[in-house]
Amino acid sequence: MAHAPVSSLKDGLSARADGKNKFMALFGRKKFNIINVKKKDIPAGLWVQCKECSSTIYKKELQNNQNVCPKCEFHFSLTAKERIDHLLDLGSFKEHDSDLVSVDPLKFKGPKTYKEKLSSDQKLTGLRDAVISGEGTINGWPVMVAVTDSRFIMGSMGSVVGERITRAIEMATQRRIPVIIVSGSGGGARMYEGVFSLMQMAKTCSALARHNEAGLLHISVLTNPTMAGIMASFAGVGDIIMAEPKALIGFTGPRVIEQTIRQKLPEGFQRSEFLLEHGLIDMIVERKEMKDRMAKIIEFTTSGSSDNPDSSAAPADVSPVETS
Ligand SMILES: [Zn+2]
Repeated sequence: MAHAPVSSLKDGLSARADGKNKFMALFGRKKFNIINVKKKDIPAGLWVQCKECSSTIYKKELQNNQNVCPKCEFHFSLTAKERIDHLLDLGSFKEHDSDLVSVDPLKFKGPKTYKEKLSSDQKLTGLRDAVISGEGTINGWPVMVAVTDSRFIMGSMGSVVGERITRAIEMATQRRIPVIIVSGSGGGARMYEGVFSLMQMAKTCSALARHNEAGLLHISVLTNPTMAGIMASFAGVGDIIMAEPKALIGFTGPRVIEQTIRQKLPEGFQRSEFLLEHGLIDMIVERKEMKDRMAKIIEFTTSGSSDNPDSSAAPADVSPVETS
């Protein structure tokens, strides 16, 4: 670029000092630059858009906040493993029955066979099936726990999910400790297994009934979404039913209901807040408060109970031996 001669620069300066004539058009004109940013310039997967408030969140920040939007508190989904990490005391979890795998009783064929679906979701999630179950402690209180994972065939309940949850409940009954079941399932009963999946509804509930008869605590945690055969069985019968904020909870999805009854559903229908108001759930608990709230409920319902005078239900870090 050629330099402007000194004389013309001088002219320019004097013109600006004089006033508004010569350069007015230049300063008054709006200037816009269009910058084309190529998509590949932004590293993929670093940012997430919130489904609720549309703000862009740094993924690390989201993860550090237990996958809750820092702007509007929208609760993103978590994997079963992440939930267990957030709920139980560090290093206390011991997985049970991880060797159980589904069979294909109906030899199901669809766009994908059941076997193909199982194997693709196993690869995707690193899980054998849609639940993780086992034992652990919550602020020192021993519990049995089962958590479904919505990424695995929508967290639906087949024979393995039903069996692992039932075994966790039965072990809780045997050990006289609370059972905590966290549900995240848009899928309900897994129809790839036909009646075998429906049978799990009765099986899990029977085990819970025996756990209840023994005077023990069952906390059911409903996360987004908890629907159909899951909500109609173990998830719906907790002694305490807590839900995460704005979770979709129900039997049939809202669209199907609207089409069936040909009426507009009320605002917020089947969301936690609506269901709390109408008495289906006991409390809405934010994710970061979930663990402490559970520990308080366990303490409240367990200590002083004549059924549990001693050892097994007491926090693990409290010595059962009296010093006085
Ligand atoms: Zn948000």
